[in-house]
Amino acid sequence: MKYFKINIPEYVQLIINKLNENGYEAYVVGGCVRDSILQKIPMDWDITTSAEPCQVKHLFSQTYDTGIMHGTVTVLMDGKACEVTTFRVDGAYQKHRKPAQVSFTDNIIEDLKRRDFTMNAIAYHPDIGFVDPFNGNADIENKIIRCVGTAADRFEEDALRMLRAVRFACQLDFDIEPDTYNAICNKARLIAAVSKERIREELNKILLSDKPEKLIYLSETGLMPHIMEELEACFRTQQNHPYHAYSVGMHTIKAIESAEKDIVLRWAMLLHDIGKPLCRTTDDKGIDHFYGHGEKSVEIAYKILKRFKFDNKTISRIIRLIKWHDRPIEAHPRAVRKAVVTVGEDIFLDLLKVKEADIKAQNASFMNERMKRLAQIREIYFDIKESGQCLSIKDLAVNGRDLILLGIPEGERIGMVLHKLLDTVIENPKMNTKEILLDIAKKYV
Ligand code: ATP
Ligand code: MG
Repeated sequence: MKYFKINIPEYVQLIINKLNENGYEAYVVGGCVRDSILQKIPMDWDITTSAEPCQVKHLFSQTYDTGIMHGTVTVLMDGKACEVTTFRVDGAYQKHRKPAQVSFTDNIIEDLKRRDFTMNAIAYHPDIGFVDPFNGNADIENKIIRCVGTAADRFEEDALRMLRAVRFACQLDFDIEPDTYNAICNKARLIAAVSKERIREELNKILLSDKPEKLIYLSETGLMPHIMEELEACFRTQQNHPYHAYSVGMHTIKAIESAEKDIVLRWAMLLHDIGKPLCRTTDDKGIDHFYGHGEKSVEIAYKILKRFKFDNKTISRIIRLIKWHDRPIEAHPRAVRKAVVTVGEDIFLDLLKVKEADIKAQNASFMNERMKRLAQIREIYFDIKESGQCLSIKDLAVNGRDLILLGIPEGERIGMVLHKLLDTVIENPKMNTKEILLDIAKKYV
């Protein structure tokens, strides 16, 4: 590790040089150093410096105040943005989240001390090398997430760090060091102090990570009941049924893993069976059933998505995917056309992806046959599209105007007739001609 050199982009190097030339210390720090050591490409580069914000602003022509209260100024260099934060010590924390006040220091070690994990508390300067007082390099090598200082105290200060630990475990495929892990277990309830939006952002990162299955840590540490108690219930709900091989919770995790990395799809998988714990019945042969779980899941998922303050468009898409995730579709053109019209064409292909992920997370012995059917359905759908068959009212060979000219009174009745005509055409695409449809419409005059 001694000889390891980080490849710092030119615009970042220019900022460091300028700070140094003017007598200030400056290092790259945090996520960009961690990711570079892991040989991942950093998303963004942060600089930490002994210069105070006003001095940073004085040195660079293009800056804006990002978090001036916390010492952060964004510097624009060659059109690229870089956050430059003054070495700081955090004051007392409020309500297990942010420090009310911070004070500046000229000591880099003091600054690194306030950071959450050893892997995130490494600074680097091209001439000096690593400043790594907590052995973050070794923890990165051993794939370990460890708090800087006493874990329990660090989580008391800022409860979000517990969720960040789990999120990094998912993103980096690291393990949480036992003391840090136990402290999460002991302090889990404090997560309730963190805003729903911040929790949502971490959950999004967990869901989109390479190892979403590690979200089981949320349940194992006791964080889950304070984040989403409805999901916690899924981990306690077994499914004794030939189609299933896992508890609802484990099935949910497998289903997330099997879905592509898309926020709507992964939230749909997270919540698709969330109603199951409330719908479980066991028949006299000992087989579990979950009648009506689709509707129950929709009801609970809606509450959860609202609670996490998702926008309405995202909520609507996720909810519709959950609502229809169990709708049977036969591999037959008419059935596929009907399904498209019922669920909405805008989500149809996503629905097939949801079904695929769901199947992959069930008993493997039924998988091949069910996957084959899904592939057929997808093919039939593409054939339907290619042949230009009608799938919505706007594709009908007649429109509202035509019906009015025919003598059908304006208003609701027009909509009703158009829907009837659509049903007809879905049954039999050949009927989609103006002549035939006007002939059918005549009886509604
Ligand atoms: P990424 O940006 O990839 O999610 P990151 O490590 O850069 O990961 P940021 O949230 O961008 O995370 O924070 C930058 C750095 O600030 C972290 O590496 C860490 O040193 C420090 N940090 C961020 N949040 C906290 C926190 N809640 N408590 C203590 N230090 C933190
Ligand atoms: Mg970052």
